[in-house]
Amino acid sequence: MQRPMIPHRGKEFRTFNSSLLERLRAIHKTTGDVLVWPGSGSAGWEIAIVNLLSQGDPVLIAVTGDFGERFARTAAVLGADVRRIDIPWGEAVTVDDLRAGLKANPEVVAVLLTHNETSTGVTNPLAELAAVARAHGALVLVDAVSSAAGLPLETDAWGLDFVLSGSQKAWMCPPGLVIVIASEKAWQAQAKSAYRSYFWNMKKARDAAADGSTPTTPPLTLLYALDAAVAMIEDESIERVWERHARIGESTRSGIAALGLQLLPSEAYASNTVTAFFPPDGLRARQIVDHLKQEHGVTVAAGQGHMADAIVRIGHMGWVDDEDVVVCVDALRHTLEQLID
Ligand SMILES: *Cc1c(COP(=O)(O)O)cnc(C)c1O
Repeated sequence: MQRPMIPHRGKEFRTFNSSLLERLRAIHKTTGDVLVWPGSGSAGWEIAIVNLLSQGDPVLIAVTGDFGERFARTAAVLGADVRRIDIPWGEAVTVDDLRAGLKANPEVVAVLLTHNETSTGVTNPLAELAAVARAHGALVLVDAVSSAAGLPLETDAWGLDFVLSGSQKAWMCPPGLVIVIASEKAWQAQAKSAYRSYFWNMKKARDAAADGSTPTTPPLTLLYALDAAVAMIEDESIERVWERHARIGESTRSGIAALGLQLLPSEAYASNTVTAFFPPDGLRARQIVDHLKQEHGVTVAAGQGHMADAIVRIGHMGWVDDEDVVVCVDALRHTLEQLID
């Protein structure tokens, strides 16, 4: 990120950016278009809606936690006709839930899914859900903010039409980039969309990206960071990145269980990028979070929304290895001993 700035309208930038987009395509397992904007993950929700839908379009969203809730709110604020499948926090949306939702709302044109619900530590069964949505003829719009570059994600093989993520999660970068994938079917929807947007215009972004350009000034330092992160992922291979996350998720959960603590999600849907667990009786989540930070220099998070003080969440995505889990679980053991005394 400390490399000198180069003119973003020059050939050197276009060559750099073309190569970055091509490599991002490979990591997402897609031949579709990759577009990168300055923004955070939330921008990705808006990009999906204002490019692929029209006001009043009926859409079905599976809300499994706070991020699903925000995705739904974005769609509602922008004027979509939002139909919901509400899943209790800590559980996953199943294929049966989605089938029932589609049966009750056959007219929906898009299904909005959160791949990994960061607020609860749940990974929804995306491949199966996407197949059901697709068979219904609906677009499949996926929030992959805390899964892309951490959990298995096969954009084309799973038939995903739109995938969004943000640089600050498993991409290991500072915040500030939103990364978007669009399928051929997404472009057909884009051509019919009645929304108008200047900054989040996917068509303009694609036209510019064709020769490595961007419609507006790109955040070059962050693109340098993403380039370095992509090189690390390529070095390890994306399949091994997925395996490392699976191993680390597993060992985090067994470490938590060994402390006698209860996980929020069931093992079948437990996420390999974030682990959520209940504090022991008599302790609040924030006490544990604060103590870990102050006494052990370990940063974890409490919950979100109505579970803000009810659960503790350990993020283990991106630049993490087995030793980080050992350090974290060990610090947690000390914290519990000290707080319970
Ligand atoms: C972090 C996150 C987001 C995006 O939040 P921003 O603050 O806008 O980056 C969206 N969805 C999920 C699942 C997330 O974890």
